[in-house]
Amino acid sequence: MTAHLLIAGGGIGALAAALAACRAGCSVQLFEQAAAFSEVGAGLQLGPNATRILQAWGLGASLDGVAAFPERIVARSSNSGRELARLPLGQQAVQRYGAPYATLHRRDLHAILLQAVQPQIGARLHLGSAVAGFKESVQAVQLQLGDGQQAEGDALIGADGLWSQVREQALADGRAQPTGHLAYRTLIARADLPAALRANEVSVWLGARQHVVAYPVRGGDLLNLVVIVQGAASQGLTGWDDVGAAADVRQALANCCGPLQDLAQAAPSWGRWSLCDRAPVAGAAQMAGGRIALLGDAAHPMRPFLAQGAAMALEDAAALGQVLKDLPDPQRDLPAALTQYAQQRWQRAARVQARSRRNGQIFHLDGPMRLGRDVALRALGARLMDLPWLYGYRAA
Ligand SMILES: Cc1cc2nc3c(=O)[nH]c(=O)nc-3n(C[C@H](O)[C@H](O)[C@H](O)COP(=O)(O)OP(=O)(O)OC[C@H]3O[C@@H](n4cnc5c(N)ncnc54)[C@H](O)[C@@H]3O)c2cc1C
Repeated sequence: MTAHLLIAGGGIGALAAALAACRAGCSVQLFEQAAAFSEVGAGLQLGPNATRILQAWGLGASLDGVAAFPERIVARSSNSGRELARLPLGQQAVQRYGAPYATLHRRDLHAILLQAVQPQIGARLHLGSAVAGFKESVQAVQLQLGDGQQAEGDALIGADGLWSQVREQALADGRAQPTGHLAYRTLIARADLPAALRANEVSVWLGARQHVVAYPVRGGDLLNLVVIVQGAASQGLTGWDDVGAAADVRQALANCCGPLQDLAQAAPSWGRWSLCDRAPVAGAAQMAGGRIALLGDAAHPMRPFLAQGAAMALEDAAALGQVLKDLPDPQRDLPAALTQYAQQRWQRAARVQARSRRNGQIFHLDGPMRLGRDVALRALGARLMDLPWLYGYRAA
């Protein structure tokens, strides 16, 4: 007997869940609301905790073809440009954690997963299929789609992101809330940049109430640049928006060092995003109950200050694949398997959510606290930046 899973969403989390479920011998139907698969034009960092999952799924060569593998993370003061600390990556990350630290375009990761899912026997992907709700019985889940159609399966995985419809129905715990940060993102052709700004590294500039992150993507052809500032979120901003974004960035970086301003000047355009998150779930029962489970941002949306949101979605998918393997009677055993999945995942994700939040506070310190942070970074450097509990984790 084969378990049949319904998956809401078609982002990185949903595709990873579909792949993991197919690899575990399940059949899946995936429902994405958009008419075409797409991802925003921006970058992602993937720590070894995430790249080892892609390798385990046989996608290591695909990753090598599109990612960059930075040599280090360097933290600098955004005012003086002075280096505060560095964490070696490259081969050292591989030696420490058995998998690389990669940076890549979100579309490339999405495409790798899509190409891996499409040929799977038992995978059916539906576009233009918004999930409107579900009905759960003891034996099955019935999915209701926005166009009035229905689909039936043994379980439903809500991987429908920050504004999850599945979560809203399952938990009724309100909408994700703005964190009070705006993120501005752009991609710059690295060939157009002076050599000093083309280092193969993740650069982080720490300023008062703001920080900037840059790293190569598309095998090093493009530089992904993100400026995060504290500030009032525009009402109703639930996606990317570019109106006035370049002027905002100029103003935010007015007191920053020359190289950082040069970098921002080289940007062809900017997109603006209002960051949102939620408090962690209170226990496994909120991440999965009965035949419904949440995965990725639907379960644990987080601030991007640890660069781990997509990585957590990949870890979730790997853990899901593990519990779905060899179920003697899928129809009977799926609720217990989903509970096991949630028990494995919720505290790990909650820890990463909390650490992301704390990182944001540390990154944006001002006044004497900022000076103290810089002293600590200079003294302890790599020891503060390396996170064995995070990067050494094995999801399955
Ligand atoms: C500025 C910024 C920087 C980041 N940097 C990193 C990083 O460096 N590393 C990292 O790991 N993570 C990073 N993240 C986090 C990462 O982007 C997210 O955690 C990740 O994309 C979540 O994937 P997901 O599939 O769960 O959700 P999403 O990507 O939001 O996908 C959800 C999908 O569900 C679809 N959907 C929604 N509602 C419905 C519905 N009702 N019916 C059907 N389909 C629906 C949507 O159209 C979408 O395709 C960053 C985030 C931000 C904002």
